[in-house]
Amino acid sequence: MKVHNDSNFLIYFGDDSESVKLSKEDLHNNLKEVLLGIQQKINAKGSVFLKQVHGTNGIVVSKESKLKYPLDIPDEHGDIIITDRDEVGIGILTADCLPVVFYDRSKHVLAVAHAGWKGSVAGVSKRTLQMMHDRFKSDPADIEVHFGPAARSCCYEVQRDFLKHLSRTDIDHEHCLMHRKGKLFLDLSKFNKHQLVNLGVKEQNIQLKHHECTICNINYCSYRRDKEDANRQVTLAMLK
Ligand SMILES: [Zn+2]
Repeated sequence: MKVHNDSNFLIYFGDDSESVKLSKEDLHNNLKEVLLGIQQKINAKGSVFLKQVHGTNGIVVSKESKLKYPLDIPDEHGDIIITDRDEVGIGILTADCLPVVFYDRSKHVLAVAHAGWKGSVAGVSKRTLQMMHDRFKSDPADIEVHFGPAARSCCYEVQRDFLKHLSRTDIDHEHCLMHRKGKLFLDLSKFNKHQLVNLGVKEQNIQLKHHECTICNINYCSYRRDKEDANRQVTLAMLK
């Protein structure tokens, strides 16, 4: 576990030691058990998660939203949660996908996005910035971004036909693929970083300190490494 502790918000990057078994029927119970401990550590009153689908939709948890405590998993599916509400965690579950946390210091608004390759290619980071702007008038120049643990280019091999997915985006392949010994490796953080910088996020405001590789670091859950047996680690962000 690692905590990014800012005076205005915090991010809890969980690992395999407090991870969640992902079964759709029992997500609420499985998650609640792990989450109660995490919420206690960070003094969160409650948390909101979504049923993630590798897409670009999401919800806003506002000061007026009625929440179920200690854990709210709304019926709608989505991969983005945005909030202006203090002391309520917004969370993402991952095993190799990239958790991205956005904080607008000017408007005191926080967001989390679930950015695996599918969501990234579909533009989930871009969509998060748009939603923050639409709802809270957030300016990308005021937003800092933190990438959590995910599959990194040391291990994240992709096949040649993966290029077809990248070619549907406005990001140059060369910015996010690495060539080693005739193999191709994807750099998901670079892909998202380029998308964000293109939209006005300042490069120096994108933090990779907690972006460890989940495949070669056995403390993390990894779908690539453990296949169907992989649990999901929790990333929980909260405004103070
Ligand atoms: Zn690695």
